[in-house]
Amino acid sequence: MEHVTGVVGMPSGGAQFIGGEPRSGTGGAAYSVVDPATGRTVWTYETAGPGDVDAAVRSAKEALPGWAGASPGERSEVLYRLAAQLAERADDLARAETLQCGKPIKLSSGFDVPGTVDNTAFFAGAARHLEGKAAAEYSPDHTSYVRREPIGVIGSVAPWNYPLQMAAWKILPAVAAGNTVVLKPSELTPLTSLMFARAAADAGVPAGVINIVTGTGPVAGEHLVAHPDVAMTSFTGSTAVGRRIAELAAGTVKRLHLELGGKAPFVVFDDADLEAAAHGAVAAALINSGQDCTAATRAYVQRPLYDAFVTAVADLMAGVRLGDPRDPATDLGPLISFAHRDRVAAIVERARTYATVVTGGEAPGGKLAAGAYYRPTLISGAPQDSEAVQREIFGPVLAVLPFDGDDQGLALANDTPYGLAASAWTRDVYRAGRAGRELAAGCVWINDHIPIISEMPHGGAKFSGFGKDMSTYSFEEYTQVKHVMYDNTAVARKDWHRTVFGDR
Ligand code: NAD
Repeated sequence: MEHVTGVVGMPSGGAQFIGGEPRSGTGGAAYSVVDPATGRTVWTYETAGPGDVDAAVRSAKEALPGWAGASPGERSEVLYRLAAQLAERADDLARAETLQCGKPIKLSSGFDVPGTVDNTAFFAGAARHLEGKAAAEYSPDHTSYVRREPIGVIGSVAPWNYPLQMAAWKILPAVAAGNTVVLKPSELTPLTSLMFARAAADAGVPAGVINIVTGTGPVAGEHLVAHPDVAMTSFTGSTAVGRRIAELAAGTVKRLHLELGGKAPFVVFDDADLEAAAHGAVAAALINSGQDCTAATRAYVQRPLYDAFVTAVADLMAGVRLGDPRDPATDLGPLISFAHRDRVAAIVERARTYATVVTGGEAPGGKLAAGAYYRPTLISGAPQDSEAVQREIFGPVLAVLPFDGDDQGLALANDTPYGLAASAWTRDVYRAGRAGRELAAGCVWINDHIPIISEMPHGGAKFSGFGKDMSTYSFEEYTQVKHVMYDNTAVARKDWHRTVFGDR
């Protein structure tokens, strides 16, 4: 049923991880993990059906009292051990991530895996830092205090673009706060989520605290979101599926965390360092082949710098090395699948009718024709209301548009339904300050675009969703605040009873 190809520590025993053990799915459908660099099937598995999701939720529910009742220090210790286990397995995790996603090995090993290890260590620390209002006599007759309690069983659904990091972002704050989790990774990329769960079990995370169900969205995903024993749904993925999840979650009034699509603007003012802006735009547009929800997708460049910026970006894009993602010299790997590559290509083809494709705009031939590759693409002259400027493409495609005054630049940047990330490029502290205030996004970079850090929150506004990943803000997302209020008077007839009894 499974084929192991080159990666030591590939998951074995099936694509479900329930109650601390791998097992095969009972959904009745076989599914393949395909290396998008070659089109070859690298792993096959049986998908999860509703019965597997029920078993995983049951396991998480059974593990909840023990895990929620463990002290923060105990949870912290186990998570530190998990960080060490992940660090030991770093090379295997990076290779598996590259195999299933096609992302360059220098990205997997330099960003995805170390970022996950750091995140794990961060949440090991965060587990011991519950915060809230001070206990006090806010009414003279009562003492009040706040408890931060776990929410229960968390059902999480993750995308394929950063499978290991997304699994970590969903699982870590939840379990650090004392919840138990059932995660459904993307059916395209389950390998590193399963390896993460294995590492957690080996680190001593009790059985049932972290469960993985691998199946399709409409079957396993919907069953998990609608499940009555799941207290919260945490979803990262497209805005369209996020809407569906919000509808489903309404049936059981679930708490929701939605990290959705993006269409990040990249605003270059006329005093910017042109070399920095051009390099920043190319790196931020092409990271992970543009399959990054915060990727730079729309560059707005103030008129005096516009022509030079277009030339510099086109030149840099033309020099990017596409190739075998396992080769450390490769800059850009394939897209996640041939279907997705064709969707990106179709958007660029339609753009030719209303804009200019300055560079790229095609799939490479030769040896790379066997993979889902697409050349770095720069589009100029697309109207603000066109598909290329408004719609999330999720590929190595950057649209560039000119603007005149600062008001216009910021207004155009804010003019899409999304609000996940944005950047402004300027050497003027007041322009930078204004951009930080006025760009409508969950994250605004000044003179950079893409970096993230475990201590700081990631999450969007508008159609990009709500809630935060990473940082103590995400830890708080997975706790519920309870107010406990003590009477201090010990009198039977309390003063406020007058509102019911009058002077009787
Ligand atoms: P997707 O929405 O197609 O799928 C995401 C996950 O949802 C997958 O596991 C999928 O199986 C599942 N799913 C699909 N239909 C479902 C349903 N009806 N019910 C329950 N689950 C369902 O997204 P994708 O193509 O995997 O990932 C790309 C998208 O993710 C992009 O839009 C990108 O912007 C977004 N994303 C956002 C962030 C963020 O932090 N905001 C981060 C990464 C990716």
